Amino acid sequence: MDEHLPPDDLDTSIEVAATLLAGARHAVALAGAGMSKESGIPTFRGEGGLWTTNGEPPMNQFDGFAADPKRWWERRLAEGVGAFAASIDSAQPNHGHRALAELEAIGVLGHLITQNIDDLHRRAGQRSITEIHGNRHWMRCLRCGQRWPREEFIVDPEDLPPHCDVEGCGGIVKSDTVMFGEMIPPAALDRCERETALADCFLTVGTSAVVYPAAGYPVAAVRRGIPLIEVNPEPTALSQFASVVVRAPSGEALPALVAAVRARLEASRT
Ligand SMILES: [Zn+2]
Repeated sequence: MDEHLPPDDLDTSIEVAATLLAGARHAVALAGAGMSKESGIPTFRGEGGLWTTNGEPPMNQFDGFAADPKRWWERRLAEGVGAFAASIDSAQPNHGHRALAELEAIGVLGHLITQNIDDLHRRAGQRSITEIHGNRHWMRCLRCGQRWPREEFIVDPEDLPPHCDVEGCGGIVKSDTVMFGEMIPPAALDRCERETALADCFLTVGTSAVVYPAAGYPVAAVRRGIPLIEVNPEPTALSQFASVVVRAPSGEALPALVAAVRARLEASRT
């Protein structure tokens, strides 16, 4: 528990976490906005967050889209890329993103659930991934759930809204980012539940764990008796349930953690 590990004992917490991960064959990680922030992407909530400064977007954002998708698309094409979108498009994966990809490559991390929409996990080389809030570089059909990288889906401004080209579908296509008031695609939720049920160790990184359903996965793992590792510079609602808390930014903590896991795996092979 958190109180057994004072925040200044970073090395100890990394060693404890590395021992847990080195014994895992299908760890599952949940990543949040803290990881993106370290790549220069503004957060939504909290001090200096976009919503804290500008107010939250309307909770019925998706209803607006569904009522008139043609108008939504016309506005989007006319307005172009805003400041937030521009900061995402120029962001690069950081050491934390690369460390998670490495943890997958060495056979410890089985799946990554991310709340981030910025594509940085994929670009760092992560393969087994569920983007629970979508990916702003992708498009998605609202009827069949097919997804395409944005550059592979050509939008004809004379024929809006765009429609799905999967045979027999023809559903309306929107940006893959899950809007306020829009249901998370059921296939994504199913995958998260399946992966969480398979998890033998659970890792949360840079998430305040307040947004459901994402926040429910680590709780479900803890209920099954699975160790929970939290990597976050600030205490969160999950800290009290964690087997070990690594109180540091992910870009600093994760490379050290993965190096320690690697050392244990190599030692166990010899
Ligand atoms: Zn479709």
